[in-house]
Amino acid sequence: MAHQPERPQEYVCEQCHAVFAGTVHGDPPDHSYTPPEECTACGATEFVEIQNYPSTGD
Ligand SMILES: [Zn+2]
Repeated sequence: MAHQPERPQEYVCEQCHAVFAGTVHGDPPDHSYTPPEECTACGATEFVEIQNYPSTGD
């Protein structure tokens, strides 16, 4: 039967806006995600969670 896979956390590179799936740690329901260490497109190390992107606001 159809099982709905959990969508991994995705992260957006703050510099070039490339999207990367986070690396999963642990097992459900206690797993967590971390962003990649480095953007493979531009080499930046700053990422924002996709649900917080775009950060339009102050
Ligand atoms: Zn980038």
